[in-house]
Amino acid sequence: MKAQPIASHFIDGEYVEDTEGTVIESLYPATGEVIARLHAATPAIVERAIAAAKRAQPEWAAMSPTARGRILKRAADIMRERNRELSELETLDTGKPIQETIVADPTSGADSFEFFGGIAAAGLNGSYIPLGQDFAYTKRVPLGVCVGIGAWNYPQQIACWKGAPALICGNAMVFKPSENTPLGALKIAEILIEAGLPKGLYNVIQGDRTTGPLLVNHRDVAKVSLTGSVPTGRKVAAAAAGSLKHVTMELGGKSPLIVFDDADIDSAIGGAMLGNFYSTGQVCSNGTRVFVQRSIKETFLSRLKARTENMVIGDPMDEATQIGPMVSFDQRQKVMSYIEKGKVEGATLVTGGGIPNHVTGEGYYVQPTVFADVTDDMTIAREEIFGPVMCVLDFDDEAEVIARANGTEFGLSGGVFTSDLTRGHRVADQLEAGTLWINTYNLCPVEIPFGGSKQSGFGRENSLAALEHYSELKTVYVGMGKVEAPY
Ligand code: NAD
Repeated sequence: MKAQPIASHFIDGEYVEDTEGTVIESLYPATGEVIARLHAATPAIVERAIAAAKRAQPEWAAMSPTARGRILKRAADIMRERNRELSELETLDTGKPIQETIVADPTSGADSFEFFGGIAAAGLNGSYIPLGQDFAYTKRVPLGVCVGIGAWNYPQQIACWKGAPALICGNAMVFKPSENTPLGALKIAEILIEAGLPKGLYNVIQGDRTTGPLLVNHRDVAKVSLTGSVPTGRKVAAAAAGSLKHVTMELGGKSPLIVFDDADIDSAIGGAMLGNFYSTGQVCSNGTRVFVQRSIKETFLSRLKARTENMVIGDPMDEATQIGPMVSFDQRQKVMSYIEKGKVEGATLVTGGGIPNHVTGEGYYVQPTVFADVTDDMTIAREEIFGPVMCVLDFDDEAEVIARANGTEFGLSGGVFTSDLTRGHRVADQLEAGTLWINTYNLCPVEIPFGGSKQSGFGRENSLAALEHYSELKTVYVGMGKVEAPY
Protein backbone atom coordinates (compact mmCIF):
# COMPACT_ATOMS: atom_id res chain seq x y z
CA MET A 1 0.00 0.00 0.00
CA LYS A 2 1.35 3.41 -0.90
CA ALA A 3 0.10 6.90 -0.10
CA GLN A 4 3.10 8.95 -1.19
CA PRO A 5 2.10 12.61 -1.63
CA ILE A 6 3.55 14.69 -4.47
CA ALA A 7 5.85 16.39 -1.97
CA SER A 8 6.16 16.92 1.78
CA HIS A 9 4.89 20.48 2.09
CA PHE A 10 2.20 22.62 0.52
CA ILE A 11 3.21 26.27 0.36
CA ASP A 12 1.82 29.21 -1.58
CA GLY A 13 -0.61 27.02 -3.51
CA GLU A 14 1.77 24.27 -4.52
CA TYR A 15 3.64 21.20 -3.36
CA VAL A 16 7.19 21.90 -2.25
CA GLU A 17 10.04 19.55 -1.34
CA ASP A 18 13.29 20.13 0.49
CA THR A 19 15.20 16.88 0.87
CA GLU A 20 17.57 18.51 3.36
CA GLY A 21 14.89 17.96 6.03
CA THR A 22 14.97 14.89 8.28
CA VAL A 23 13.12 11.93 6.79
CA ILE A 24 9.65 11.25 8.22
CA GLU A 25 8.41 7.75 7.48
CA SER A 26 4.67 7.38 7.42
CA LEU A 27 3.71 3.89 8.62
CA TYR A 28 0.35 2.20 8.17
CA PRO A 29 -0.45 1.28 11.77
CA ALA A 30 -2.32 -1.89 10.81
CA THR A 31 0.77 -3.47 9.22
CA GLY A 32 3.77 -1.31 10.08
CA GLU A 33 4.39 -0.91 6.35
CA VAL A 34 6.04 2.34 5.14
CA ILE A 35 3.39 4.02 2.98
CA ALA A 36 5.12 7.35 2.39
CA ARG A 37 8.45 9.06 2.95
CA LEU A 38 8.45 12.77 3.66
CA HIS A 39 10.86 15.37 4.96
CA ALA A 40 10.56 17.61 7.98
CA ALA A 41 10.62 21.31 7.19
CA THR A 42 14.02 22.94 7.22
CA PRO A 43 14.26 26.50 8.57
CA ALA A 44 14.15 27.66 4.93
CA ILE A 45 10.80 25.90 4.41
CA VAL A 46 9.40 27.41 7.60
CA GLU A 47 10.44 30.88 6.41
CA ARG A 48 8.93 30.27 3.00
CA ALA A 49 5.58 29.16 4.45
CA ILE A 50 5.32 32.06 6.88
CA ALA A 51 6.38 34.55 4.19
CA ALA A 52 3.70 33.21 1.82
CA ALA A 53 1.06 33.48 4.53
CA LYS A 54 2.13 36.99 5.48
CA ARG A 55 2.06 38.14 1.87
CA ALA A 56 -1.36 36.66 1.07
CA GLN A 57 -3.22 37.65 4.25
CA PRO A 58 -3.99 41.39 3.78
CA GLU A 59 -5.81 40.95 0.49
CA TRP A 60 -7.83 38.05 1.91
CA ALA A 61 -8.74 40.11 4.98
CA ALA A 62 -9.98 42.87 2.69
CA MET A 63 -12.54 40.59 1.02
CA SER A 64 -16.09 40.52 2.33
CA PRO A 65 -16.86 37.74 4.81
CA THR A 66 -19.46 36.39 2.38
CA ALA A 67 -16.88 36.05 -0.38
CA ARG A 68 -14.52 34.26 1.96
CA GLY A 69 -17.36 32.06 3.18
CA ARG A 70 -18.30 31.05 -0.34
CA ILE A 71 -14.85 29.51 -0.83
CA LEU A 72 -15.00 27.62 2.44
CA LYS A 73 -18.43 26.22 1.58
CA ARG A 74 -17.10 25.07 -1.78
CA ALA A 75 -14.27 23.30 0.04
CA ALA A 76 -16.87 21.58 2.24
CA ASP A 77 -18.70 20.34 -0.86
CA ILE A 78 -15.50 18.96 -2.40
CA MET A 79 -14.64 17.19 0.85
CA ARG A 80 -18.04 15.53 0.91
CA GLU A 81 -17.74 14.47 -2.74
CA ARG A 82 -14.36 12.88 -1.94
CA ASN A 83 -15.39 11.48 1.41
CA ARG A 84 -14.45 7.90 0.57
CA GLU A 85 -11.02 8.78 -0.80
CA LEU A 86 -10.26 11.11 2.13
CA SER A 87 -11.53 8.56 4.65
CA GLU A 88 -9.31 5.84 3.19
CA LEU A 89 -6.34 8.20 3.45
CA GLU A 90 -7.28 9.00 7.05
CA THR A 91 -7.44 5.28 7.80
CA LEU A 92 -3.98 4.78 6.26
CA ASP A 93 -2.63 7.77 8.20
CA THR A 94 -4.08 6.77 11.60
CA GLY A 95 -5.15 3.11 11.46
CA LYS A 96 -8.67 4.11 12.54
CA PRO A 97 -11.38 1.83 11.12
CA ILE A 98 -12.94 2.99 7.85
CA GLN A 99 -16.30 2.42 9.57
CA GLU A 100 -15.40 5.50 11.67
CA THR A 101 -13.42 7.67 9.30
CA ILE A 102 -16.19 7.54 6.71
CA VAL A 103 -18.64 9.15 9.14
CA ALA A 104 -16.45 11.15 11.48
CA ASP A 105 -13.30 12.54 9.91
CA PRO A 106 -13.56 14.34 6.53
CA THR A 107 -17.24 14.90 7.26
CA SER A 108 -16.55 16.77 10.49
CA GLY A 109 -13.88 18.79 8.66
CA ALA A 110 -16.44 19.61 5.97
CA ASP A 111 -18.95 20.61 8.66
CA SER A 112 -16.40 23.08 9.94
CA PHE A 113 -15.88 24.71 6.52
CA GLU A 114 -19.63 24.76 5.96
CA PHE A 115 -20.45 26.21 9.38
CA PHE A 116 -17.82 28.95 9.34
CA GLY A 117 -18.45 29.64 5.67
CA GLY A 118 -22.13 30.10 6.46
CA ILE A 119 -21.97 32.24 9.58
CA ALA A 120 -19.39 34.63 8.17
CA ALA A 121 -21.66 37.50 7.30
CA ALA A 122 -23.35 37.70 10.70
CA GLY A 123 -20.69 36.27 13.00
CA LEU A 124 -18.07 38.87 12.23
CA ASN A 125 -20.18 41.96 12.85
CA GLY A 126 -19.04 44.56 15.34
CA SER A 127 -21.21 46.73 17.55
CA TYR A 128 -22.35 50.33 17.84
CA ILE A 129 -22.03 51.95 21.27
CA PRO A 130 -24.03 55.15 21.89
CA LEU A 131 -22.18 57.67 24.11
CA GLY A 132 -24.48 60.69 24.22
CA GLN A 133 -23.50 62.95 21.35
CA ASP A 134 -20.42 60.82 20.71
CA PHE A 135 -20.42 57.16 19.80
CA ALA A 136 -18.06 54.27 19.32
CA TYR A 137 -18.08 51.19 17.21
CA THR A 138 -16.18 47.97 17.28
CA LYS A 139 -14.99 45.80 14.48
CA ARG A 140 -13.60 42.30 14.54
CA VAL A 141 -10.20 42.23 12.86
CA PRO A 142 -8.02 39.25 11.96
CA LEU A 143 -4.84 38.49 13.87
CA GLY A 144 -2.59 37.90 10.82
CA VAL A 145 -0.60 34.69 10.41
CA CYS A 146 -1.92 31.86 12.59
CA VAL A 147 -0.08 28.62 13.25
CA GLY A 148 -1.94 25.36 13.82
CA ILE A 149 -0.15 22.36 15.32
CA GLY A 150 -2.00 19.06 15.26
CA ALA A 151 -2.14 15.78 17.17
CA TRP A 152 -2.37 12.42 15.39
CA ASN A 153 -5.77 11.18 16.43
CA TYR A 154 -7.98 13.33 14.15
CA PRO A 155 -5.53 14.78 11.60
CA GLN A 156 -8.01 15.95 8.96
CA GLN A 157 -10.53 17.19 11.49
CA ILE A 158 -7.89 19.16 13.38
CA ALA A 159 -6.54 20.67 10.14
CA CYS A 160 -10.08 21.91 9.36
CA TRP A 161 -11.16 22.88 12.88
CA LYS A 162 -8.20 25.26 13.02
CA GLY A 163 -8.21 26.29 9.37
CA ALA A 164 -11.89 27.15 8.96
CA PRO A 165 -12.29 29.73 11.77
CA ALA A 166 -8.83 31.16 11.06
CA LEU A 167 -9.62 31.70 7.39
CA ILE A 168 -13.13 33.04 7.82
CA CYS A 169 -11.82 35.70 10.18
CA GLY A 170 -9.40 36.85 7.46
CA ASN A 171 -6.21 35.20 8.71
CA ALA A 172 -3.68 33.04 6.90
CA MET A 173 -2.62 29.70 8.34
CA VAL A 174 0.50 27.60 8.49
CA PHE A 175 -0.47 24.14 9.71
CA LYS A 176 1.90 21.48 10.98
CA PRO A 177 0.37 18.04 11.33
CA SER A 178 1.73 15.48 13.75
CA GLU A 179 4.79 13.64 12.47
CA ASN A 180 2.80 10.41 12.97
CA THR A 181 0.05 11.45 10.55
CA PRO A 182 1.50 13.75 7.89
CA LEU A 183 -0.80 12.92 4.98
CA GLY A 184 -4.34 14.22 5.47
CA ALA A 185 -3.63 17.93 5.91
CA LEU A 186 -1.91 18.10 2.51
CA LYS A 187 -5.19 17.03 0.88
CA ILE A 188 -7.09 19.71 2.79
CA ALA A 189 -4.64 22.32 1.45
CA GLU A 190 -5.12 20.99 -2.10
CA ILE A 191 -8.91 21.08 -1.78
CA LEU A 192 -8.90 24.64 -0.50
CA ILE A 193 -6.96 25.77 -3.57
CA GLU A 194 -9.38 23.88 -5.79
CA ALA A 195 -12.26 25.62 -4.02
CA GLY A 196 -10.78 28.98 -4.96
CA LEU A 197 -8.74 29.94 -1.92
CA PRO A 198 -6.01 32.36 -3.00
CA LYS A 199 -2.49 30.97 -2.76
CA GLY A 200 -0.54 31.30 0.45
CA LEU A 201 -3.49 31.36 2.84
CA TYR A 202 -3.41 27.73 3.95
CA ASN A 203 0.04 26.17 4.02
CA VAL A 204 1.07 22.79 5.38
CA ILE A 205 4.56 21.98 6.52
CA GLN A 206 5.80 18.73 8.02
CA GLY A 207 7.85 18.32 11.14
CA ASP A 208 8.12 17.17 14.70
CA ARG A 209 8.82 18.64 18.11
CA THR A 210 11.93 20.36 16.77
CA THR A 211 10.02 22.02 13.93
CA GLY A 212 7.13 23.29 16.08
CA PRO A 213 9.27 25.80 18.00
CA LEU A 214 10.46 27.40 14.72
CA LEU A 215 6.82 28.29 14.08
CA VAL A 216 5.90 29.21 17.64
CA ASN A 217 8.89 31.52 18.07
CA HIS A 218 8.58 33.22 14.70
CA ARG A 219 8.17 37.00 14.88
CA ASP A 220 5.61 37.12 12.07
CA VAL A 221 3.24 34.66 13.74
CA ALA A 222 0.36 36.23 15.68
CA LYS A 223 -1.34 33.14 17.05
CA VAL A 224 -0.68 29.51 17.84
CA SER A 225 -3.38 26.89 18.24
CA LEU A 226 -2.11 23.55 19.53
CA THR A 227 -3.87 20.24 19.85
CA GLY A 228 -1.63 17.97 21.84
CA SER A 229 -0.62 16.75 25.27
CA VAL A 230 -0.39 18.83 28.43
CA PRO A 231 3.45 18.75 28.58
CA THR A 232 3.64 19.99 24.98
CA GLY A 233 1.00 22.61 25.79
CA ARG A 234 3.11 23.98 28.62
CA LYS A 235 6.13 24.29 26.34
CA VAL A 236 4.22 25.89 23.48
CA ALA A 237 2.35 28.33 25.74
CA ALA A 238 5.61 29.32 27.42
CA ALA A 239 7.32 29.90 24.08
CA ALA A 240 4.35 31.88 22.74
CA ALA A 241 4.36 34.03 25.87
CA GLY A 242 7.87 35.20 24.95
CA SER A 243 6.37 37.37 22.23
CA LEU A 244 2.82 37.60 23.65
CA LYS A 245 1.18 35.59 20.91
CA HIS A 246 -2.47 34.59 21.13
CA VAL A 247 -2.83 30.92 22.05
CA THR A 248 -5.46 28.21 22.00
CA MET A 249 -4.57 25.04 23.87
CA GLU A 250 -6.55 21.86 23.18
CA LEU A 251 -4.84 19.41 25.50
CA GLY A 252 -5.30 16.08 27.20
CA GLY A 253 -7.82 14.82 29.71
CA LYS A 254 -8.84 12.16 32.21
CA SER A 255 -12.51 12.83 32.11
CA PRO A 256 -15.15 11.42 34.46
CA LEU A 257 -18.29 9.70 33.24
CA ILE A 258 -20.74 9.19 36.10
CA VAL A 259 -23.45 6.52 35.96
CA PHE A 260 -26.18 6.77 38.60
CA ASP A 261 -28.31 3.76 39.50
CA ASP A 262 -31.41 5.31 37.91
CA ALA A 263 -29.72 5.60 34.49
CA ASP A 264 -30.77 3.69 31.39
CA ILE A 265 -28.01 1.17 31.93
CA ASP A 266 -27.63 0.04 28.32
CA SER A 267 -27.32 3.64 27.14
CA ALA A 268 -24.77 4.29 29.86
CA ILE A 269 -22.74 1.24 28.79
CA GLY A 270 -22.98 2.35 25.16
CA GLY A 271 -21.82 5.85 26.16
CA ALA A 272 -18.95 4.44 28.19
CA MET A 273 -17.86 2.18 25.33
CA LEU A 274 -18.02 4.98 22.77
CA GLY A 275 -16.20 7.20 25.25
CA ASN A 276 -13.36 4.71 25.69
CA PHE A 277 -13.05 2.56 22.59
CA TYR A 278 -13.95 4.83 19.66
CA SER A 279 -10.80 5.56 17.63
CA THR A 280 -9.19 2.76 19.66
CA GLY A 281 -9.41 5.02 22.69
CA GLN A 282 -7.35 7.80 21.14
CA VAL A 283 -9.79 10.62 21.85
CA CYS A 284 -8.87 13.51 24.13
CA SER A 285 -12.33 13.92 25.64
CA ASN A 286 -12.79 10.24 26.50
CA GLY A 287 -14.57 9.45 29.75
CA THR A 288 -11.82 7.19 30.98
CA ARG A 289 -12.86 7.26 34.64
CA VAL A 290 -16.27 5.60 34.64
CA PHE A 291 -17.84 6.05 38.09
CA VAL A 292 -20.63 3.51 38.55
CA GLN A 293 -23.00 3.64 41.53
CA ARG A 294 -22.33 0.58 43.65
CA SER A 295 -25.86 -0.90 43.49
CA ILE A 296 -25.65 -1.40 39.70
CA LYS A 297 -21.98 -2.34 39.52
CA GLU A 298 -22.38 -6.06 38.85
CA THR A 299 -25.04 -5.63 36.15
CA PHE A 300 -23.04 -2.84 34.54
CA LEU A 301 -19.82 -4.85 34.47
CA SER A 302 -21.33 -8.09 33.20
CA ARG A 303 -23.15 -6.42 30.31
CA LEU A 304 -20.12 -4.23 29.55
CA LYS A 305 -17.85 -7.27 29.45
CA ALA A 306 -20.15 -9.13 27.05
CA ARG A 307 -20.50 -6.15 24.72
CA THR A 308 -16.76 -5.40 24.80
CA GLU A 309 -15.82 -8.99 23.96
CA ASN A 310 -18.18 -8.81 21.02
CA MET A 311 -16.33 -5.94 19.37
CA VAL A 312 -14.77 -6.65 15.99
CA ILE A 313 -11.00 -6.12 15.99
CA GLY A 314 -9.11 -6.32 12.73
CA ASP A 315 -8.29 -4.82 9.37
CA PRO A 316 -9.24 -1.12 9.50
CA MET A 317 -10.14 -1.17 5.79
CA ASP A 318 -12.81 -3.80 6.44
CA GLU A 319 -16.11 -2.01 7.00
CA ALA A 320 -17.05 -4.49 9.74
CA THR A 321 -14.01 -3.62 11.87
CA GLN A 322 -14.73 -1.61 15.00
CA ILE A 323 -11.31 -1.62 16.66
CA GLY A 324 -8.18 -0.86 14.69
CA PRO A 325 -4.58 -0.57 15.83
CA MET A 326 -3.01 2.18 17.92
CA VAL A 327 -1.38 4.89 15.82
CA SER A 328 2.18 3.74 16.46
CA PHE A 329 4.37 1.11 18.06
CA ASP A 330 5.38 3.62 20.76
CA GLN A 331 1.78 4.40 21.60
CA ARG A 332 1.01 0.71 21.95
CA GLN A 333 4.02 0.27 24.25
CA LYS A 334 2.79 3.17 26.35
CA VAL A 335 -0.72 1.74 26.61
CA MET A 336 0.59 -1.74 27.43
CA SER A 337 2.76 -0.32 30.21
CA TYR A 338 -0.32 1.33 31.74
CA ILE A 339 -2.21 -1.96 31.53
CA GLU A 340 0.65 -3.62 33.43
CA LYS A 341 0.53 -0.86 36.06
CA GLY A 342 -3.21 -1.42 36.44
CA LYS A 343 -2.61 -5.11 37.13
CA VAL A 344 0.30 -4.49 39.51
CA GLU A 345 -1.53 -1.79 41.46
CA GLY A 346 -4.46 -4.12 42.15
CA ALA A 347 -7.24 -3.23 39.70
CA THR A 348 -9.42 -6.14 38.58
CA LEU A 349 -9.02 -6.97 34.89
CA VAL A 350 -12.55 -7.55 33.59
CA THR A 351 -11.63 -8.11 29.96
CA GLY A 352 -8.81 -7.48 27.48
CA GLY A 353 -5.42 -6.50 28.82
CA GLY A 354 -3.29 -7.86 26.02
CA ILE A 355 -2.48 -7.88 22.35
CA PRO A 356 -5.14 -9.70 20.31
CA ASN A 357 -3.62 -12.89 18.92
CA HIS A 358 -6.01 -13.34 16.02
CA VAL A 359 -4.79 -10.18 14.29
CA THR A 360 -1.85 -11.14 12.14
CA GLY A 361 1.03 -9.00 10.97
CA GLU A 362 2.94 -6.19 12.58
CA GLY A 363 -0.02 -3.93 13.43
CA TYR A 364 -0.05 -2.04 16.72
CA TYR A 365 -3.19 -3.67 18.16
CA VAL A 366 -4.35 -3.67 21.78
CA GLN A 367 -7.45 -5.44 23.08
CA PRO A 368 -10.20 -3.19 24.36
CA THR A 369 -9.61 -3.39 28.08
CA VAL A 370 -11.81 -2.85 31.14
CA PHE A 371 -10.50 -2.58 34.68
CA ALA A 372 -12.88 -2.62 37.66
CA ASP A 373 -12.26 -1.84 41.35
CA VAL A 374 -10.06 1.05 40.26
CA THR A 375 -9.28 3.50 43.04
CA ASP A 376 -8.56 7.22 42.72
CA ASP A 377 -4.89 6.87 43.62
CA MET A 378 -4.01 4.26 40.97
CA THR A 379 -1.84 5.43 38.09
CA ILE A 380 -4.44 4.31 35.55
CA ALA A 381 -7.01 6.56 37.25
CA ARG A 382 -4.76 9.60 37.31
CA GLU A 383 -2.82 9.69 34.04
CA GLU A 384 -4.04 9.98 30.49
CA ILE A 385 -3.48 6.62 28.77
CA PHE A 386 -4.81 7.53 25.31
CA GLY A 387 -5.73 3.98 24.39
CA PRO A 388 -8.68 1.57 24.74
CA VAL A 389 -8.48 1.21 28.52
CA MET A 390 -11.60 1.88 30.59
CA CYS A 391 -11.33 2.28 34.35
CA VAL A 392 -14.49 1.56 36.34
CA LEU A 393 -14.62 3.06 39.83
CA ASP A 394 -17.38 2.53 42.42
CA PHE A 395 -19.20 5.30 44.26
CA ASP A 396 -22.05 5.63 46.76
CA ASP A 397 -23.45 9.15 46.65
CA GLU A 398 -23.60 12.31 44.59
CA ALA A 399 -21.47 14.65 46.69
CA GLU A 400 -18.73 12.03 46.97
CA VAL A 401 -18.60 11.32 43.24
CA ILE A 402 -18.50 15.00 42.29
CA ALA A 403 -15.57 15.63 44.61
CA ARG A 404 -13.72 12.60 43.26
CA ALA A 405 -14.53 13.40 39.64
CA ASN A 406 -13.05 16.88 40.15
CA GLY A 407 -9.96 15.53 41.90
CA THR A 408 -7.76 15.80 38.81
CA GLU A 409 -5.55 18.41 37.22
CA PHE A 410 -7.42 17.87 33.93
CA GLY A 411 -10.71 19.50 33.00
CA LEU A 412 -11.48 18.71 29.39
CA SER A 413 -14.89 17.07 29.61
CA GLY A 414 -17.23 14.87 31.59
CA GLY A 415 -20.57 13.13 31.49
CA VAL A 416 -23.46 12.00 33.64
CA PHE A 417 -26.07 9.32 33.01
CA THR A 418 -29.22 9.59 35.12
CA SER A 419 -32.96 9.67 34.62
CA ASP A 420 -33.29 12.40 37.25
CA LEU A 421 -33.50 15.62 35.25
CA THR A 422 -32.49 17.97 38.03
CA ARG A 423 -29.62 15.76 39.16
CA GLY A 424 -28.26 15.65 35.60
CA HIS A 425 -28.04 19.43 35.44
CA ARG A 426 -26.86 19.78 39.04
CA VAL A 427 -23.97 17.37 38.49
CA ALA A 428 -23.04 18.89 35.11
CA ASP A 429 -23.01 22.28 36.81
CA GLN A 430 -20.52 21.15 39.42
CA LEU A 431 -18.11 19.17 37.25
CA GLU A 432 -15.01 21.20 36.42
CA ALA A 433 -14.66 20.78 32.67
CA GLY A 434 -15.08 22.64 29.40
CA THR A 435 -17.62 20.31 27.79
CA LEU A 436 -20.18 18.12 29.53
CA TRP A 437 -22.73 15.62 28.32
CA ILE A 438 -25.94 14.47 29.99
CA ASN A 439 -27.19 11.02 28.91
CA THR A 440 -24.81 10.82 25.97
CA TYR A 441 -21.07 11.11 25.48
CA ASN A 442 -18.42 12.58 23.16
CA LEU A 443 -20.71 14.22 20.65
CA CYS A 444 -18.96 17.33 19.31
CA PRO A 445 -20.92 18.90 16.46
CA VAL A 446 -19.43 22.09 15.07
CA GLU A 447 -22.28 24.16 16.53
CA ILE A 448 -21.08 23.70 20.12
CA PRO A 449 -17.95 25.18 21.71
CA PHE A 450 -15.27 22.63 22.49
CA GLY A 451 -12.23 23.03 24.73
CA GLY A 452 -10.83 22.49 28.17
CA SER A 453 -10.41 24.06 31.55
CA LYS A 454 -7.74 23.55 34.25
CA GLN A 455 -4.68 21.83 32.72
CA SER A 456 -6.67 20.67 29.68
CA GLY A 457 -6.20 24.04 28.08
CA PHE A 458 -7.95 27.25 27.17
CA GLY A 459 -9.64 28.84 24.21
CA ARG A 460 -12.49 27.19 22.35
CA GLU A 461 -12.81 25.55 18.96
CA ASN A 462 -16.00 25.36 16.90
CA SER A 463 -19.18 27.44 17.28
CA LEU A 464 -19.28 31.23 17.24
CA ALA A 465 -16.91 31.15 20.22
CA ALA A 466 -14.01 30.14 17.94
CA LEU A 467 -14.26 33.47 16.11
CA GLU A 468 -13.14 35.24 19.28
CA HIS A 469 -9.96 33.20 19.26
CA TYR A 470 -9.00 34.04 15.68
CA SER A 471 -9.77 37.74 15.73
CA GLU A 472 -9.63 40.71 18.04
CA LEU A 473 -11.83 43.70 18.62
CA LYS A 474 -10.83 47.10 17.40
CA THR A 475 -12.72 49.99 19.01
CA VAL A 476 -13.18 53.34 17.33
CA TYR A 477 -14.38 56.27 19.47
CA VAL A 478 -15.94 59.04 17.37
CA GLY A 479 -16.01 62.54 18.84
CA MET A 480 -18.90 64.54 17.38
CA GLY A 481 -18.30 67.88 19.15
CA LYS A 482 -15.43 70.22 19.93
CA VAL A 483 -12.60 69.01 22.18
CA GLU A 484 -12.88 70.78 25.57
CA ALA A 485 -9.29 70.87 26.89
CA PRO A 486 -8.65 72.32 30.38
CA TYR A 487 -5.33 73.78 29.25
P1 NAD B 1 1.98 15.74 21.39
O1 NAD B 1 1.83 16.74 22.47
O2 NAD B 1 3.09 14.77 21.49
O3 NAD B 1 2.18 16.45 19.97
C1 NAD B 1 1.22 17.36 19.46
C2 NAD B 1 1.85 18.19 18.37
O4 NAD B 1 2.78 19.10 18.95
C3 NAD B 1 2.64 17.41 17.32
O5 NAD B 1 2.38 17.97 16.06
C4 NAD B 1 4.09 17.63 17.74
O6 NAD B 1 5.01 17.54 16.67
C5 NAD B 1 4.03 19.04 18.27
N1 NAD B 1 5.06 19.42 19.23
C6 NAD B 1 5.65 18.63 20.15
N2 NAD B 1 6.52 19.36 20.89
C7 NAD B 1 6.43 20.63 20.44
C8 NAD B 1 7.06 21.86 20.83
N3 NAD B 1 7.94 21.91 21.83
N4 NAD B 1 6.74 22.98 20.16
C9 NAD B 1 5.82 22.95 19.16
N5 NAD B 1 5.21 21.82 18.75
C10 NAD B 1 5.50 20.67 19.39
O7 NAD B 1 0.56 15.04 21.28
P2 NAD B 1 0.14 13.77 20.43
O8 NAD B 1 0.79 12.59 21.04
O9 NAD B 1 0.34 14.06 18.99
O10 NAD B 1 -1.44 13.71 20.68
C11 NAD B 1 -2.01 13.15 21.79
C12 NAD B 1 -2.36 14.21 22.81
O11 NAD B 1 -3.19 15.20 22.21
C13 NAD B 1 -3.17 13.65 23.96
O12 NAD B 1 -2.73 14.21 25.17
C14 NAD B 1 -4.58 14.12 23.65
O13 NAD B 1 -5.43 14.21 24.76
C15 NAD B 1 -4.33 15.43 23.02
N6 NAD B 1 -5.48 15.84 22.20
C16 NAD B 1 -6.26 16.87 22.61
C17 NAD B 1 -7.37 17.24 21.88
C18 NAD B 1 -8.27 18.37 22.31
O14 NAD B 1 -9.01 18.88 21.48
N7 NAD B 1 -8.25 18.80 23.56
C19 NAD B 1 -7.67 16.56 20.70
C20 NAD B 1 -6.85 15.52 20.30
C21 NAD B 1 -5.75 15.17 21.05
